[in-house]
Amino acid sequence: MDSVIVVGASLAGWRATEGLRAEGFEGKISLVGEEPHLPYDRPPLSKQVLAGKWPPEKAVLADKKRSSELQVHEVLGRRATGLDVAGRTVELDDGSALSADGIVLATGAAPRRLPGTESLGPADGLFVLRTIDDSLALRAAVTAVEGARVVVVGAGFIGSEVASTCAALGCQVTVVEVMDVPLSNVLGPVVGAHCASLHGANGVSLRTGVGLERIERAAGGTGSGSGRLSVHLRDGEVLDADVVVVGIGVSPSTAWLESSGLTIDNGVVCDDRLFVADGIVAAGDMARWLWRHDGSEELIRIEHWEVAANAGAAAARSLLAGRTEAPSFAPIPYFWSDQYGIRIQVLGNPGGDDEMVITDGSFEEGKFLAVYGRGGRLRAVMAIGKPRQLMGFRPLLQNGASFDEALAHELS
Ligand SMILES: Cc1cc2nc3c(=O)[nH]c(=O)nc-3n(C[C@H](O)[C@H](O)[C@H](O)COP(=O)(O)OP(=O)(O)OC[C@H]3O[C@@H](n4cnc5c(N)ncnc54)[C@H](O)[C@@H]3O)c2cc1C
Repeated sequence: MDSVIVVGASLAGWRATEGLRAEGFEGKISLVGEEPHLPYDRPPLSKQVLAGKWPPEKAVLADKKRSSELQVHEVLGRRATGLDVAGRTVELDDGSALSADGIVLATGAAPRRLPGTESLGPADGLFVLRTIDDSLALRAAVTAVEGARVVVVGAGFIGSEVASTCAALGCQVTVVEVMDVPLSNVLGPVVGAHCASLHGANGVSLRTGVGLERIERAAGGTGSGSGRLSVHLRDGEVLDADVVVVGIGVSPSTAWLESSGLTIDNGVVCDDRLFVADGIVAAGDMARWLWRHDGSEELIRIEHWEVAANAGAAAARSLLAGRTEAPSFAPIPYFWSDQYGIRIQVLGNPGGDDEMVITDGSFEEGKFLAVYGRGGRLRAVMAIGKPRQLMGFRPLLQNGASFDEALAHELS
Protein backbone atom coordinates (compact mmCIF):
# COMPACT_ATOMS: atom_id res chain seq x y z
CA MET A 1 0.00 0.00 0.00
CA ASP A 2 1.53 3.31 -1.11
CA SER A 3 -1.16 5.86 -0.37
CA VAL A 4 -4.12 6.37 1.98
CA ILE A 5 -6.89 8.98 2.04
CA VAL A 6 -8.44 9.72 5.42
CA VAL A 7 -11.84 11.41 5.00
CA GLY A 8 -12.84 13.36 8.11
CA ALA A 9 -10.21 15.42 9.95
CA SER A 10 -11.30 14.90 13.52
CA LEU A 11 -10.69 12.40 16.30
CA ALA A 12 -11.14 9.08 14.45
CA GLY A 13 -9.45 10.38 11.30
CA TRP A 14 -6.52 11.78 13.24
CA ARG A 15 -6.05 8.61 15.30
CA ALA A 16 -6.08 6.66 12.03
CA THR A 17 -3.41 9.00 10.63
CA GLU A 18 -1.23 8.60 13.73
CA GLY A 19 -1.91 4.86 13.70
CA LEU A 20 -0.75 4.48 10.11
CA ARG A 21 2.56 6.17 10.91
CA ALA A 22 2.93 4.26 14.21
CA GLU A 23 2.56 1.00 12.24
CA GLY A 24 5.40 2.11 9.97
CA PHE A 25 3.39 3.24 6.94
CA GLU A 26 5.64 5.56 4.93
CA GLY A 27 3.37 6.29 1.97
CA LYS A 28 1.30 9.39 1.28
CA ILE A 29 -1.53 10.24 3.68
CA SER A 30 -4.10 12.78 2.50
CA LEU A 31 -6.33 14.11 5.27
CA VAL A 32 -9.59 15.52 3.89
CA GLY A 33 -11.74 17.65 6.19
CA GLU A 34 -14.76 19.84 5.64
CA GLU A 35 -13.81 22.18 8.47
CA PRO A 36 -10.94 24.59 7.85
CA HIS A 37 -9.25 23.47 11.09
CA LEU A 38 -6.75 20.76 11.85
CA PRO A 39 -8.25 18.08 14.15
CA TYR A 40 -9.42 19.21 17.60
CA ASP A 41 -11.27 17.61 20.48
CA ARG A 42 -15.02 18.03 20.90
CA PRO A 43 -15.64 17.15 24.60
CA PRO A 44 -14.29 20.54 25.82
CA LEU A 45 -16.72 22.37 23.52
CA SER A 46 -19.64 21.93 25.92
CA LYS A 47 -17.41 22.17 28.99
CA GLN A 48 -14.14 24.15 29.30
CA VAL A 49 -14.32 26.07 26.00
CA LEU A 50 -17.98 27.05 26.44
CA ALA A 51 -17.22 28.01 30.05
CA GLY A 52 -14.33 30.22 28.89
CA LYS A 53 -11.88 28.24 31.06
CA TRP A 54 -9.87 27.03 28.06
CA PRO A 55 -8.77 29.01 25.05
CA PRO A 56 -9.79 27.14 21.88
CA GLU A 57 -6.12 26.24 21.15
CA LYS A 58 -6.14 23.95 24.19
CA ALA A 59 -8.64 21.66 22.46
CA VAL A 60 -6.32 21.05 19.51
CA LEU A 61 -5.49 17.40 18.74
CA ALA A 62 -3.00 18.05 15.96
CA ASP A 63 -1.11 21.26 15.35
CA LYS A 64 0.84 22.27 12.23
CA LYS A 65 4.08 20.94 13.67
CA ARG A 66 2.65 17.48 14.39
CA SER A 67 0.90 17.36 11.03
CA SER A 68 4.15 18.14 9.25
CA GLU A 69 6.11 15.63 11.39
CA LEU A 70 3.69 12.96 10.22
CA GLN A 71 3.98 14.29 6.65
CA VAL A 72 0.28 14.73 6.26
CA HIS A 73 -1.05 16.13 3.01
CA GLU A 74 -3.77 18.41 4.38
CA VAL A 75 -6.89 18.90 2.27
CA LEU A 76 -8.89 21.08 4.66
CA GLY A 77 -11.98 23.15 4.00
CA ARG A 78 -12.95 20.55 1.37
CA ARG A 79 -16.01 18.32 1.57
CA ALA A 80 -16.02 14.83 0.13
CA THR A 81 -19.06 14.46 -2.11
CA GLY A 82 -18.75 10.94 -3.44
CA LEU A 83 -16.82 7.68 -3.30
CA ASP A 84 -15.94 5.29 -6.10
CA VAL A 85 -15.37 2.06 -4.19
CA ALA A 86 -13.81 -0.01 -6.99
CA GLY A 87 -11.52 2.85 -8.07
CA ARG A 88 -10.81 3.91 -4.46
CA THR A 89 -11.44 7.48 -5.42
CA VAL A 90 -12.89 10.27 -3.32
CA GLU A 91 -14.68 13.11 -5.11
CA LEU A 92 -14.42 16.58 -3.59
CA ASP A 93 -16.74 19.58 -3.60
CA ASP A 94 -14.47 21.60 -5.90
CA GLY A 95 -14.89 18.97 -8.63
CA SER A 96 -11.46 17.42 -8.05
CA ALA A 97 -10.84 13.82 -6.98
CA LEU A 98 -8.21 11.92 -5.00
CA SER A 99 -7.32 8.26 -5.52
CA ALA A 100 -5.33 5.98 -3.22
CA ASP A 101 -4.67 2.34 -2.36
CA GLY A 102 -6.54 2.62 0.92
CA ILE A 103 -9.29 4.84 2.34
CA VAL A 104 -10.38 5.55 5.92
CA LEU A 105 -13.93 6.89 6.25
CA ALA A 106 -14.26 9.03 9.39
CA THR A 107 -16.84 11.73 8.72
CA GLY A 108 -18.46 11.45 12.14
CA ALA A 109 -21.91 12.75 12.87
CA ALA A 110 -23.83 16.01 12.66
CA PRO A 111 -26.50 17.46 14.97
CA ARG A 112 -30.13 16.77 14.15
CA ARG A 113 -32.09 19.93 13.43
CA LEU A 114 -35.56 20.67 14.75
CA PRO A 115 -38.11 20.45 11.95
CA GLY A 116 -39.62 23.84 11.25
CA THR A 117 -36.56 25.83 12.38
CA GLU A 118 -34.76 25.84 9.01
CA SER A 119 -35.02 29.63 8.69
CA LEU A 120 -33.47 30.25 12.13
CA GLY A 121 -29.79 30.22 13.04
CA PRO A 122 -27.15 31.66 15.35
CA ALA A 123 -27.99 35.22 14.27
CA ASP A 124 -31.47 34.64 15.71
CA GLY A 125 -30.13 32.95 18.84
CA LEU A 126 -30.73 29.34 17.71
CA PHE A 127 -27.71 27.04 18.06
CA VAL A 128 -26.54 23.47 17.76
CA LEU A 129 -23.19 22.41 19.22
CA ARG A 130 -20.75 20.27 17.30
CA THR A 131 -17.83 22.39 16.13
CA ILE A 132 -15.36 24.76 17.76
CA ASP A 133 -17.01 27.57 15.82
CA ASP A 134 -20.43 26.56 17.25
CA SER A 135 -18.96 26.58 20.75
CA LEU A 136 -17.34 30.01 20.45
CA ALA A 137 -20.44 31.53 18.85
CA LEU A 138 -22.65 30.03 21.56
CA ARG A 139 -20.34 31.34 24.27
CA ALA A 140 -20.48 34.82 22.76
CA ALA A 141 -24.29 34.68 22.68
CA VAL A 142 -24.83 33.43 26.24
CA THR A 143 -22.39 35.95 27.68
CA ALA A 144 -23.65 38.90 25.62
CA VAL A 145 -26.63 39.49 27.91
CA GLU A 146 -26.34 39.48 31.71
CA GLY A 147 -28.34 36.52 33.04
CA ALA A 148 -29.24 35.43 29.51
CA ARG A 149 -32.35 33.26 29.25
CA VAL A 150 -31.23 30.01 27.70
CA VAL A 151 -33.58 27.22 26.63
CA VAL A 152 -31.92 23.88 25.98
CA VAL A 153 -33.99 21.48 23.89
CA GLY A 154 -33.07 17.90 24.84
CA ALA A 155 -31.81 16.62 28.18
CA GLY A 156 -29.33 14.10 26.79
CA PHE A 157 -25.67 14.27 27.72
CA ILE A 158 -24.73 17.22 25.48
CA GLY A 159 -27.87 19.20 26.36
CA SER A 160 -27.29 18.59 30.06
CA GLU A 161 -23.66 19.67 29.82
CA VAL A 162 -24.66 22.86 28.01
CA ALA A 163 -27.29 23.54 30.69
CA SER A 164 -24.73 22.98 33.43
CA THR A 165 -22.10 25.23 31.83
CA CYS A 166 -24.61 28.00 31.05
CA ALA A 167 -25.97 27.88 34.61
CA ALA A 168 -22.41 28.27 35.93
CA LEU A 169 -22.05 31.31 33.65
CA GLY A 170 -25.02 32.91 35.40
CA CYS A 171 -27.65 32.23 32.73
CA GLN A 172 -31.27 31.43 33.55
CA VAL A 173 -31.57 27.98 32.04
CA THR A 174 -34.62 25.90 31.17
CA VAL A 175 -34.26 22.40 29.75
CA VAL A 176 -37.12 20.92 27.72
CA GLU A 177 -37.24 17.15 27.25
CA VAL A 178 -39.87 15.14 25.43
CA MET A 179 -39.25 11.96 27.46
CA ASP A 180 -40.85 11.70 30.90
CA VAL A 181 -37.49 10.74 32.39
CA PRO A 182 -34.37 12.13 30.72
CA LEU A 183 -31.70 9.57 29.82
CA SER A 184 -34.05 6.72 30.78
CA ASN A 185 -33.49 5.20 27.32
CA VAL A 186 -29.79 4.78 28.19
CA LEU A 187 -29.52 4.57 31.98
CA GLY A 188 -33.03 3.34 32.87
CA PRO A 189 -35.75 5.26 34.75
CA VAL A 190 -34.22 5.17 38.23
CA VAL A 191 -30.72 6.41 37.41
CA GLY A 192 -32.19 8.68 34.69
CA ALA A 193 -34.41 10.35 37.31
CA HIS A 194 -31.42 10.86 39.58
CA CYS A 195 -29.41 12.50 36.78
CA ALA A 196 -32.43 14.68 35.94
CA SER A 197 -32.61 15.82 39.57
CA LEU A 198 -29.16 17.40 39.18
CA HIS A 199 -30.71 20.13 37.02
CA GLY A 200 -33.16 21.28 39.69
CA ALA A 201 -30.54 20.98 42.42
CA ASN A 202 -28.39 23.43 40.45
CA GLY A 203 -31.04 26.03 39.73
CA VAL A 204 -31.98 24.85 36.24
CA SER A 205 -35.67 24.39 35.39
CA LEU A 206 -36.56 21.12 33.73
CA ARG A 207 -39.74 20.50 31.72
CA THR A 208 -40.19 16.82 30.94
CA GLY A 209 -42.74 14.84 28.96
CA VAL A 210 -43.45 17.81 26.74
CA GLY A 211 -42.63 18.28 23.08
CA LEU A 212 -42.03 21.44 21.13
CA GLU A 213 -44.78 23.03 19.07
CA ARG A 214 -42.59 25.63 17.36
CA ILE A 215 -39.84 28.20 17.83
CA GLU A 216 -40.25 31.65 16.37
CA ARG A 217 -38.60 35.05 16.41
CA ALA A 218 -40.07 37.08 19.24
CA ALA A 219 -41.49 40.49 18.48
CA GLY A 220 -39.31 43.21 19.93
CA GLY A 221 -36.06 41.32 20.17
CA THR A 222 -33.40 41.62 22.84
CA GLY A 223 -33.68 44.45 25.30
CA SER A 224 -37.42 44.93 24.90
CA GLY A 225 -38.24 42.65 27.80
CA SER A 226 -39.37 39.80 25.60
CA GLY A 227 -36.94 37.21 24.31
CA ARG A 228 -35.36 37.08 20.88
CA LEU A 229 -37.01 33.71 20.41
CA SER A 230 -40.30 32.30 21.65
CA VAL A 231 -40.30 28.60 22.37
CA HIS A 232 -43.84 27.23 22.20
CA LEU A 233 -44.32 23.95 24.04
CA ARG A 234 -47.05 21.44 23.18
CA ASP A 235 -48.74 22.00 26.55
CA GLY A 236 -49.30 25.67 25.71
CA GLU A 237 -46.42 27.13 27.72
CA VAL A 238 -44.31 29.75 25.93
CA LEU A 239 -40.70 30.29 27.01
CA ASP A 240 -38.91 33.53 26.10
CA ALA A 241 -35.28 32.97 25.28
CA ASP A 242 -32.23 34.96 24.33
CA VAL A 243 -30.60 31.75 23.22
CA VAL A 244 -31.99 28.31 22.31
CA VAL A 245 -29.63 25.34 22.07
CA VAL A 246 -30.94 22.28 20.26
CA GLY A 247 -29.37 19.08 21.59
CA ILE A 248 -31.60 16.34 20.23
CA GLY A 249 -28.91 13.94 19.06
CA VAL A 250 -26.84 13.45 15.96
CA SER A 251 -27.08 11.59 12.67
CA PRO A 252 -24.12 9.85 11.08
CA SER A 253 -22.57 11.93 8.26
CA THR A 254 -23.04 9.42 5.46
CA ALA A 255 -25.07 11.38 2.87
CA TRP A 256 -21.96 11.72 0.70
CA LEU A 257 -21.75 7.90 0.46
CA GLU A 258 -25.30 7.35 -0.72
CA SER A 259 -24.44 6.54 -4.33
CA SER A 260 -21.31 4.54 -3.42
CA GLY A 261 -23.11 1.20 -3.17
CA LEU A 262 -21.90 0.74 0.42
CA THR A 263 -24.53 -0.36 2.92
CA ILE A 264 -25.81 2.67 4.80
CA ASP A 265 -28.13 1.83 7.68
CA ASN A 266 -27.81 4.18 10.66
CA GLY A 267 -24.14 4.58 9.75
CA VAL A 268 -21.91 2.91 7.21
CA VAL A 269 -22.07 -0.81 7.92
CA CYS A 270 -18.69 -2.49 8.57
CA ASP A 271 -17.51 -6.00 9.38
CA ASP A 272 -15.95 -6.77 12.76
CA ARG A 273 -12.58 -5.44 11.53
CA LEU A 274 -14.06 -2.12 10.37
CA PHE A 275 -13.87 -2.94 6.65
CA VAL A 276 -16.66 -1.70 4.41
CA ALA A 277 -14.98 -3.02 1.25
CA ASP A 278 -11.52 -4.25 0.28
CA GLY A 279 -9.06 -1.44 1.02
CA ILE A 280 -11.72 0.74 2.69
CA VAL A 281 -12.32 0.96 6.44
CA ALA A 282 -14.51 3.20 8.60
CA ALA A 283 -14.21 4.48 12.16
CA GLY A 284 -15.83 6.73 14.73
CA ASP A 285 -19.36 8.10 15.06
CA MET A 286 -20.27 7.26 11.45
CA ALA A 287 -19.35 3.56 11.64
CA ARG A 288 -21.82 0.81 12.53
CA TRP A 289 -19.71 -2.24 12.98
CA LEU A 290 -20.17 -5.88 13.93
CA TRP A 291 -19.34 -5.94 17.63
CA ARG A 292 -18.43 -9.46 18.70
CA HIS A 293 -18.82 -9.68 22.42
CA ASP A 294 -19.67 -12.32 25.02
CA GLY A 295 -20.37 -15.03 22.46
CA SER A 296 -22.80 -12.96 20.42
CA GLU A 297 -22.56 -10.27 17.79
CA GLU A 298 -24.55 -7.18 16.99
CA LEU A 299 -24.19 -4.18 14.73
CA ILE A 300 -23.53 -1.17 16.91
CA ARG A 301 -22.74 2.48 16.34
CA ILE A 302 -21.32 4.35 19.32
CA GLU A 303 -20.97 8.11 19.68
CA HIS A 304 -18.26 8.28 22.34
CA TRP A 305 -14.79 9.77 22.37
CA GLU A 306 -12.87 6.69 23.51
CA VAL A 307 -14.52 4.37 20.99
CA ALA A 308 -13.88 6.81 18.13
CA ALA A 309 -10.23 7.22 19.17
CA ASN A 310 -9.62 3.47 19.45
CA ALA A 311 -11.56 2.75 16.26
CA GLY A 312 -9.36 5.20 14.34
CA ALA A 313 -6.22 3.38 15.45
CA ALA A 314 -7.84 -0.02 14.82
CA ALA A 315 -8.98 1.02 11.34
CA ALA A 316 -5.38 1.97 10.45
CA ARG A 317 -4.14 -1.43 11.67
CA SER A 318 -6.88 -3.23 9.75
CA LEU A 319 -6.09 -1.37 6.54
CA LEU A 320 -2.41 -2.29 6.72
CA ALA A 321 -2.98 -5.89 7.87
CA GLY A 322 -5.64 -6.63 5.24
CA ARG A 323 -9.09 -8.09 5.54
CA THR A 324 -8.15 -11.63 6.53
CA GLU A 325 -5.32 -10.84 8.94
CA ALA A 326 -6.79 -7.89 10.84
CA PRO A 327 -8.02 -8.53 14.39
CA SER A 328 -11.64 -8.04 15.38
CA PHE A 329 -12.44 -4.62 16.89
CA ALA A 330 -14.26 -5.51 20.09
CA PRO A 331 -13.80 -2.75 22.69
CA ILE A 332 -15.79 -2.36 25.86
CA PRO A 333 -17.42 1.02 25.18
CA TYR A 334 -16.71 3.77 27.69
CA PHE A 335 -17.93 7.33 28.02
CA TRP A 336 -18.11 10.14 30.50
CA SER A 337 -20.12 13.29 30.92
CA ASP A 338 -19.31 16.24 33.19
CA GLN A 339 -22.28 18.07 34.63
CA TYR A 340 -22.67 20.33 37.67
CA GLY A 341 -19.23 19.48 38.97
CA ILE A 342 -19.71 15.72 38.86
CA ARG A 343 -18.54 13.13 36.36
CA ILE A 344 -20.93 10.46 35.11
CA GLN A 345 -19.02 7.45 33.75
CA VAL A 346 -20.39 4.44 31.89
CA LEU A 347 -18.56 1.28 30.93
CA GLY A 348 -20.29 -1.19 28.60
CA ASN A 349 -23.43 -0.74 26.59
CA PRO A 350 -26.47 -0.27 28.86
CA GLY A 351 -30.05 -0.25 27.67
CA GLY A 352 -32.97 1.56 29.26
CA ASP A 353 -34.82 -1.67 30.04
CA ASP A 354 -31.85 -3.56 31.51
CA GLU A 355 -32.05 -4.81 35.08
CA MET A 356 -30.22 -2.35 37.35
CA VAL A 357 -28.87 -2.76 40.87
CA ILE A 358 -27.02 -0.11 42.91
CA THR A 359 -24.15 -2.11 44.43
CA ASP A 360 -22.17 0.62 46.15
CA GLY A 361 -22.99 4.05 47.57
CA SER A 362 -26.35 5.77 47.15
CA PHE A 363 -28.07 8.69 45.45
CA GLU A 364 -28.19 10.47 48.84
CA GLU A 365 -24.40 10.27 49.15
CA GLY A 366 -24.07 11.53 45.58
CA LYS A 367 -21.67 8.68 44.84
CA PHE A 368 -22.79 5.29 43.61
CA LEU A 369 -22.18 2.40 41.29
CA ALA A 370 -25.04 0.96 39.22
CA VAL A 371 -24.67 -2.46 37.60
CA TYR A 372 -26.77 -3.30 34.51
CA GLY A 373 -27.66 -6.79 33.31
CA ARG A 374 -29.74 -8.38 30.59
CA GLY A 375 -30.65 -12.03 30.07
CA GLY A 376 -28.48 -13.00 33.05
CA ARG A 377 -25.38 -11.33 31.56
CA LEU A 378 -23.50 -8.24 32.74
CA ARG A 379 -24.12 -5.41 30.25
CA ALA A 380 -22.70 -2.26 31.77
CA VAL A 381 -21.68 -0.39 34.89
CA MET A 382 -22.36 3.27 35.58
CA ALA A 383 -20.81 5.39 38.30
CA ILE A 384 -20.81 8.81 39.83
CA GLY A 385 -17.84 9.52 42.10
CA LYS A 386 -16.47 5.97 41.93
CA PRO A 387 -14.01 5.88 39.02
CA ARG A 388 -11.67 3.22 40.43
CA GLN A 389 -14.50 0.87 41.35
CA LEU A 390 -16.04 1.34 37.89
CA MET A 391 -12.82 0.40 36.12
CA GLY A 392 -12.61 -2.72 38.33
CA PHE A 393 -15.51 -4.08 36.27
CA ARG A 394 -13.64 -3.88 32.99
CA PRO A 395 -12.22 -7.44 33.18
CA LEU A 396 -15.69 -8.79 34.02
CA LEU A 397 -17.18 -7.08 30.99
CA GLN A 398 -14.29 -8.24 28.83
CA ASN A 399 -14.66 -11.84 30.01
CA GLY A 400 -18.43 -11.91 29.57
CA ALA A 401 -19.34 -12.28 33.27
CA SER A 402 -22.84 -13.21 34.35
CA PHE A 403 -25.00 -10.61 36.08
CA ASP A 404 -24.76 -12.59 39.35
CA GLU A 405 -20.96 -12.68 39.19
CA ALA A 406 -20.94 -8.92 38.66
CA LEU A 407 -23.26 -8.35 41.61
CA ALA A 408 -20.99 -10.49 43.79
CA HIS A 409 -17.87 -8.69 42.54
CA GLU A 410 -15.68 -7.70 45.45
CA LEU A 411 -15.32 -3.91 45.45
CA SER A 412 -11.87 -2.72 46.36
C1 LIG B 1 -19.96 19.16 22.39
C2 LIG B 1 -19.56 17.70 22.47
C3 LIG B 1 -19.17 17.16 23.70
C4 LIG B 1 -18.80 15.81 23.77
N1 LIG B 1 -18.46 15.30 24.99
C5 LIG B 1 -18.14 14.00 25.10
C6 LIG B 1 -17.81 13.44 26.36
O1 LIG B 1 -17.79 14.13 27.39
N2 LIG B 1 -17.51 12.12 26.42
C7 LIG B 1 -17.50 11.32 25.31
O2 LIG B 1 -17.25 10.11 25.42
N3 LIG B 1 -17.81 11.82 24.08
C8 LIG B 1 -18.12 13.14 23.96
N4 LIG B 1 -18.44 13.67 22.73
C9 LIG B 1 -18.47 12.78 21.54
C10 LIG B 1 -17.12 12.73 20.83
O3 LIG B 1 -16.56 13.99 20.70
C11 LIG B 1 -17.34 12.06 19.47
O4 LIG B 1 -17.66 10.71 19.70
C12 LIG B 1 -16.13 12.19 18.55
O5 LIG B 1 -15.88 13.52 18.21
C13 LIG B 1 -16.32 11.36 17.27
O6 LIG B 1 -15.22 11.53 16.46
P1 LIG B 1 -15.30 11.29 14.88
O7 LIG B 1 -13.92 11.59 14.38
O8 LIG B 1 -15.89 9.97 14.59
O9 LIG B 1 -16.34 12.34 14.31
P2 LIG B 1 -16.42 13.90 14.37
O10 LIG B 1 -15.72 14.41 15.58
O11 LIG B 1 -17.86 14.24 14.18
O12 LIG B 1 -15.60 14.41 13.11
C14 LIG B 1 -15.95 14.17 11.79
C15 LIG B 1 -15.28 15.20 10.93
O13 LIG B 1 -15.55 14.91 9.57
C16 LIG B 1 -15.91 16.10 8.89
N5 LIG B 1 -16.77 15.76 7.76
C17 LIG B 1 -18.09 15.40 7.78
N6 LIG B 1 -18.53 15.16 6.54
C18 LIG B 1 -17.48 15.35 5.73
C19 LIG B 1 -17.30 15.24 4.31
N7 LIG B 1 -18.29 14.86 3.51
N8 LIG B 1 -16.08 15.51 3.80
C20 LIG B 1 -15.04 15.90 4.59
N9 LIG B 1 -15.16 16.02 5.93
C21 LIG B 1 -16.35 15.73 6.48
C22 LIG B 1 -16.61 16.93 9.93
O14 LIG B 1 -16.57 18.30 9.57
C23 LIG B 1 -15.77 16.62 11.18
O15 LIG B 1 -14.70 17.51 11.32
C24 LIG B 1 -18.82 15.01 22.61
C25 LIG B 1 -19.21 15.56 21.38
C26 LIG B 1 -19.58 16.90 21.30
C27 LIG B 1 -20.01 17.48 19.99
